[in-house]
Amino acid sequence: MDNTTYDNYIKAGHIAARVLADARKKVVSGATYLDIIQQTEQMITDAGAQLACPSTISVNEIAAHYTPLLNDTSTIGDNDVVKLDIGVMVDGCIADTATTICLDPAYDDMNSTVKSALEKALKLATPGTNVGEIGATIESEIISKGYRPIVNLSGHVLSSYELHSGFSIPNIKTDTKDTLEEDMVLAIEPFATDGRGLIKEIGKIQIFRYIAQRPIRLPAARKVLALAKTKYHSMPFTPRWITDISPLMLDSALRQLADSNAIYMYPVLKEAGAGIVTQAEHTVIVRDKPVVTTRV
Ligand code: MN
Ligand code: MN
Repeated sequence: MDNTTYDNYIKAGHIAARVLADARKKVVSGATYLDIIQQTEQMITDAGAQLACPSTISVNEIAAHYTPLLNDTSTIGDNDVVKLDIGVMVDGCIADTATTICLDPAYDDMNSTVKSALEKALKLATPGTNVGEIGATIESEIISKGYRPIVNLSGHVLSSYELHSGFSIPNIKTDTKDTLEEDMVLAIEPFATDGRGLIKEIGKIQIFRYIAQRPIRLPAARKVLALAKTKYHSMPFTPRWITDISPLMLDSALRQLADSNAIYMYPVLKEAGAGIVTQAEHTVIVRDKPVVTTRV
């Protein structure tokens, strides 16, 4: 990794850490999801970075991929367990980090569990580590505290303008040949639950990503596809960002693009046993002494 790339990863990480720390303070009973997320994204762009993906706010049994649309009036409840997950990018170098805010102290223990699982995993981000060992470490830490890891969510390798590049970083013991190499950049993200330890997709879709150019007739759909490819760098985007197309037209455009396999859809993910979910995530550069870029 050259110096400029390294500096950009560090810069993106610092911005992400600072924004997430500020965003946490906005998670209070009665606040709207939309305000929290729009202010979070504004802080990222005000800091001179780009959004690597829509910021998400996944509450209670929702594990991931929830980002409010413009008409979303949902508010934080008195006892909610709230996961904030953000992606920050500086010249294609990504920082991916998440935190959980427990308004109900009953879930503080599940939250510390996921944080200690993450800390143990980060120490293993050294050249030569088999990623199955990272999964085993996360799993045993979470199980030892009486919770379940979510088996079908995992961390991932980051590369320039790519959130998921190469292999996954499992949250359970896995038999794999995938091995870490110096200067790989990883997002490690354990999830713990008191439910089944499994997520399922629910119908709601608020996040999309460019796949490929396809012959599309609807002008609005062609416009959305062009934005997806160039403005959003083929990275995840939300229709909330597209305000110059009417909501109804935008809906048909997205549907047509998805039907033509021009864009990928990320459904909202919910714990299959409706358990409460906690998550922690950091980005780390693989070195003999791992460099966690997203610490405050
Ligand atoms: Mn994330
Ligand atoms: Mn991630």
